Amino acid sequence: MTIEDQLAALAADAPAAVAPQVMLETGLADGYIRRDGPAGPMFVSFNERGVSSIVLGEDVRDFEYRFEPQFGRPVFPVTAPPPRLARALDKSLRTNRLGTLQIDWGAMSEFQQAVLRKTAEILPGEVRPYSWVAKEIGNPKAVRAVGTALARNPVPIVVPCHRVVRNDGHLGNYYYGTEVKRAVLASEGTNIETLDDMAARGIRLTGSDTTHIFCHPTCRDARRTTSRHQVEFRTEEEARQAGFRPCLHCRPAVA
Ligand SMILES: [Zn+2]
Repeated sequence: MTIEDQLAALAADAPAAVAPQVMLETGLADGYIRRDGPAGPMFVSFNERGVSSIVLGEDVRDFEYRFEPQFGRPVFPVTAPPPRLARALDKSLRTNRLGTLQIDWGAMSEFQQAVLRKTAEILPGEVRPYSWVAKEIGNPKAVRAVGTALARNPVPIVVPCHRVVRNDGHLGNYYYGTEVKRAVLASEGTNIETLDDMAARGIRLTGSDTTHIFCHPTCRDARRTTSRHQVEFRTEEEARQAGFRPCLHCRPAVA
């Protein structure tokens, strides 16, 4: 029996679990683990470049079935994920920040990467409109494209696309539905009632009559202003005409 024949015989006899392990190690497949997130259980897939996808839900077969057509490779469950990745993931879920968690940006266009990296800068408890992301990445007219890039975010929760809201201040759509978006935002301490109320009244910016600085309403600086000193604006123009300057931290953009 030649070595090739022996290897072929070994491969044929090998337990089914060996093949996935080899595929994972050679990058021909991704691994996945389960985690609990702010909206319940999630599947987290990864490879040597980082986290490749996060899918909310509990249906294992559905997750595995949809993965391959989307990413062009299969996905297998892993009992012991790489310790560094597991630690960074758990910290990210605990702190609601991306932190040192590696993401596999490989399958994304440069534009989508820019949108998602910028989105990852929005702190928990805060939201920004699509127009803010567009302006921040140097493409202020690309508001719709920003919406599309966010709608196709393969790594929700850790890249917090739920923190981007409609330009009119309404929470807007979410892949898993507006109720899930609302629940995830609430879990981070976002004051949704106030946002709803402001959106209903057409208020998109707030300022302080002591500092004469205007902000996105959820900016940390804005939240320090007491209601007695808070001033509301519908547009940037209105704020500027009232003699207010834009906040350097949240760099308001509600065009
Ligand atoms: Zn601000």
